[in-house]
Amino acid sequence: MIENIVSVELPVHENLVIKKKRIMPKGLDSKALSKCPRISIVTGIHGDELDGQYIIYELIRHMNMHEDDLKGIIDIYPCVNPLGLDSGYRGIPMFDLDMNRVFPGMSNGAFAEYVAANLINDIIGSDMCLDIHSSNKFIKEMLQVRLNDDNEEKLLPYAKTLNADFVWVYSSLPVREATLSYSLNHLGVPTMVVEMGVGNRISKSYCKQLFEGILNLLKEVGVFKGNTLPVKEPIVSKEGEVTFISAKDSGLFVPNIENLGEIKAGDYIGDIIEPIEGRILQHLESPVDGIIFTIREHPVVYKGALLCRIYHKD
Ligand SMILES: [Zn+2]
Repeated sequence: MIENIVSVELPVHENLVIKKKRIMPKGLDSKALSKCPRISIVTGIHGDELDGQYIIYELIRHMNMHEDDLKGIIDIYPCVNPLGLDSGYRGIPMFDLDMNRVFPGMSNGAFAEYVAANLINDIIGSDMCLDIHSSNKFIKEMLQVRLNDDNEEKLLPYAKTLNADFVWVYSSLPVREATLSYSLNHLGVPTMVVEMGVGNRISKSYCKQLFEGILNLLKEVGVFKGNTLPVKEPIVSKEGEVTFISAKDSGLFVPNIENLGEIKAGDYIGDIIEPIEGRILQHLESPVDGIIFTIREHPVVYKGALLCRIYHKD
């Protein structure tokens, strides 16, 4: 079943529509359905993040083939910022606004706030929500779940079901209150954020990895009883276990690393170069043994730009 959860009139008699796909067990009346567990999956808050589209395609195909294994409701919101996706723009075009900074929104508010409030109202009542992101066009991320430490106790066991490489638990301080995940957690819907890959691309292997994890999560919350594969035990990182390396100069970053993952102290990560004089401005080696889980993807860097993040135990 596909329904419109938001419809807003655009200037020239067109409508912006946000759609939801509901997958549910067959043959149950509304009373029985209301007792079923429900999970919501949101993607596309940022219009330049596309992995979620592919994951949802795989998930819907899988559920179509395994209808009898469905024991609860899956509500899928594939594209909650359709203007952004259509124009390859991260925020909401025209408004120059990051949609993940307007939650919980206001039902009598302006365009973005109205859309946000409708989305929140539709998700409320879910037993769990997953918000899938794909970094941005500048930074590549290992498949990771991000949790605010306020919710660690409740959500970490679920985060571990998602087949991620990494779970990053960070303190409340840098968390922005206007995100979808913060708002939903605050309103009683346990919500996890997944980050993976890079903006404007589909990282197929990460998508497949998370798809297996989502099946496992669906099983854990009682929505699905079909076959699942064993999942990875992720590294769980707490505050203070992540080293950030930033650009000391503006130039072009040339990475020496093909894949994210284990790294040893002294390993060559990459250089910032200055082409016109043929100089290396910054030579990067890992300061620690650890896991490099974030790396700069877009070569043009300005002083202070994030180049990589490395998890280390001590
Ligand atoms: Zn995002």
